[in-house]
Amino acid sequence: MTQTDFSYDPTNIFARILRGEIPNKTVLETAHSLAFHDIRPLAPVHVLVIPKGAYVSLDHFSAEAPAEELVDFHRCVAQVVAMLDLGPGFRAISNTREAGGQEVPHYHLHILGGRHMGRMIQPE
Ligand code: AMP
Repeated sequence: MTQTDFSYDPTNIFARILRGEIPNKTVLETAHSLAFHDIRPLAPVHVLVIPKGAYVSLDHFSAEAPAEELVDFHRCVAQVVAMLDLGPGFRAISNTREAGGQEVPHYHLHILGGRHMGRMIQPE
């Protein structure tokens, strides 16, 4: 098993949002997490939920974040879903590293909804 590189680049755009250097359209802020609207929405609702800690990806966050941060993050997701009336359904996506199509190297969960989301991914 090869070791994954979880080194974190503090100049990434979400780190800059967390430091207050660039604005965001906040949906919800909790002790350890921030939810804000995606700048290029791909659905009527497109929110990004991020941990405040320096984690590059879902697997990094899941492996190394303390329980308090993990719980806070997932409770934040649940609150966002309730606040934005996504009860009928939504899609959560976490693009991870190069092959997964990740552009911003700070862990984020896309929450997409407000319409039928179609098939999971394009078949090959
Ligand atoms: P990913 O390809 O999974 O890394 O997704 C990165 C997402 O971040 C894209 O959907 C972008 O539209 C979004 N994004 C980039 N910059 C900003 C920003 N300043 N505020 C909100 N969303 C952003």
